[in-house]
Amino acid sequence: MSIKPSKNAANAQLAASRGLSFAPSVRLVTLCKEKKAKMKTTLPCPKCSKEFTPTEILEASTLSWPELCWIYFKCPKCGKFTHIQIINGRMSTVNFLGAPGPDWEIISTIEVKHFTIRRDPGFMHAWLDGKHYEFEERK
Ligand SMILES: [Zn+2]
Repeated sequence: MSIKPSKNAANAQLAASRGLSFAPSVRLVTLCKEKKAKMKTTLPCPKCSKEFTPTEILEASTLSWPELCWIYFKCPKCGKFTHIQIINGRMSTVNFLGAPGPDWEIISTIEVKHFTIRRDPGFMHAWLDGKHYEFEERK
């Protein structure tokens, strides 16, 4: 994060010195917007739309379905439950369509840096930024 702005500033300065300040700066803004959209870092609760960080989701989740890589998130705002699919580097809200299943679809996904998971009999484990979380399998 700290490297990019100075590089962008240097590019802008270079462009300005070449008399190209207008067009490149417009392009720069577009690039920044694209980057921001790709780097979304929160997931919305499908029920109330409040955005949550990966840490908030992990801390508000209890049970898991290790076979499906799901954990059970209870929204701290609206109190409703949502299945969250967790895989290495990624987290998604799941629309569980119910029995007879399994029948489900991904609602939205975010990339999560420094995020790894492991499935064990009876548990799912997750590590985010070195912090460990575990979720007991729902029987
Ligand atoms: Zn909610």
